[in-house]
Amino acid sequence: MTAQSQKKAGDLPRVTVLGAGPAGIAAAYALTKGKAKVEVLERAKVAGGNSTSFQIDGIWCDYGSHRFHPVADENVLADVKALLGDDLLLQPRHGRIRLGGRWIHFPLKLQDAILRLPPAFAASLIGDMALKRFRRRSQGPKSFSSVLYDGLGPTISENFYFPYVKKLWGLDPDRLAVMLAERRVSGSSIGKILGKMMKMLPGMRGATTGRFYYPKKGFGQISQAMVAAAEGQGAEFRFGADIVRIERDGTRVAAVVTREGRTETRHEADQVYSTIPLTTVVRLMDPPPPPEVLMAAQSIRFRGMILVYLILEADRFTEYDAHYFPELSIPISRMSEPKNYSSATGPKGRTILCAELPCDPGEKWWDMSDEELGKHYCAWLGNLGLPVTMPVIRCETRRIAHAYPVYDLDYQRHFETVDNWLLGLDGFLSFGRQGLFAHDNTHHAFAMAYAAADSLTAGGDVDRTAWAAHRHEFESHRVED
Ligand SMILES: Cc1cc2nc3c(=O)[nH]c(=O)nc-3n(C[C@H](O)[C@H](O)[C@H](O)COP(=O)(O)OP(=O)(O)OC[C@H]3O[C@@H](n4cnc5c(N)ncnc54)[C@H](O)[C@@H]3O)c2cc1C
Repeated sequence: MTAQSQKKAGDLPRVTVLGAGPAGIAAAYALTKGKAKVEVLERAKVAGGNSTSFQIDGIWCDYGSHRFHPVADENVLADVKALLGDDLLLQPRHGRIRLGGRWIHFPLKLQDAILRLPPAFAASLIGDMALKRFRRRSQGPKSFSSVLYDGLGPTISENFYFPYVKKLWGLDPDRLAVMLAERRVSGSSIGKILGKMMKMLPGMRGATTGRFYYPKKGFGQISQAMVAAAEGQGAEFRFGADIVRIERDGTRVAAVVTREGRTETRHEADQVYSTIPLTTVVRLMDPPPPPEVLMAAQSIRFRGMILVYLILEADRFTEYDAHYFPELSIPISRMSEPKNYSSATGPKGRTILCAELPCDPGEKWWDMSDEELGKHYCAWLGNLGLPVTMPVIRCETRRIAHAYPVYDLDYQRHFETVDNWLLGLDGFLSFGRQGLFAHDNTHHAFAMAYAAADSLTAGGDVDRTAWAAHRHEFESHRVED
């Protein structure tokens, strides 16, 4: 008997949520406000997915630099503020980026850029801006590189964006799709970048310009607080529950099967709300989807990442929250000092530097020992003029397989094949960063989850027209760094 046929009039619909990252947690939180009975299935032992936090030597660490951006939708921000209360800090952004061999404040500040950019680099930028109208437009099919070249010119493209994306995605910029530029590059012309820099000037900035929200106990405290609230509303979270099969009866998803140790459990519901990678969903379908869907899913790639945590015997390494490294001479893309995100002063005599090393399983870094990675890390910092002069206590690493969706030139057609097939399934909805292959922030994952909850009808169906309208809204999501 299906969950639907067992349901009595007046019963709330039952929703099984797959994954307890921000999207899954926020779906549980929104649905249990009187819309549905919810069970959340999560493989990990803790909530938060890529946005979780953990402690190393008494210091809260994240999976790389994580900030909650004030540009979040009003209702999302209001919920996060209400859930965290005084534990949510509004912090000034204080980072540095390497441009033209010099350190420049990041986010960019006009006065700092004027003083610090190498004169030849600055002159070249001004030249790009002045000559934009006369620049020959790129011919042929558009790609990330052609759109950036046309919009920003060669100086910023070649010195910043091209090496940075090559490092992040492991592909040349002309093999990356235009979508990446639309999602990721907030200043599509030098005029717009200058406009953003002007807004950073004293007297011109708003209350949250150049600032970010961050919880006292790490970014993952947001997820923890939302899980507690959802549980208080009746949501049930099952951690350590690996989803191993999604059973399908024609076009209807009938049940989800989890494995905990040696025990398999079958979960039935009116709706399955999935936030796990869409490629995993396709792989777990029983019976499998048509061959063209399987092939499309196999062609979709996620970029992995190693987070390298260097534990140092010092109160602090630098005053900066993050350092951004666009150049290809070192393989890490960013380094953060977690204590500086919450202005933590303790523990004394300890600080941690977290490096983001984009890397896929099979690449040389992936199987390297923590000790070896630590040695390379110190050498890279030394080469950049940031020598590690204090004792290194040890190095720890974490590996994530689904860090970034890879928007190569073919991804769109493969994604659409999988997405259209999933949209045709009854009792199933895929969303979140991994579910919609969306290069997004946590506040976007929350917004998607709220929209998914909004689309559930009292009868336990998904209002497909409402969902289509929400999907259209998601196209406006832009990544904040
Ligand atoms: C390096 C880095 C830096 C970032 N910085 C920021 C930032 O500063 N600010 C910001 O807002 N966002 C940032 N993000 C993005 C943010 O991490 C994501 O937007 C957010 O975590 C997406 O949430 P999600 O729930 O959609 O997916 P995820 O967080 O990936 O959660 C998916 C969940 O599904 C679970 N799952 C997968 N497969 C299975 C299975 N078979 N069975 C059971 N469970 C399964 C996973 O364990 C995971 O918990 C950053 C991301 C990265 C990689």
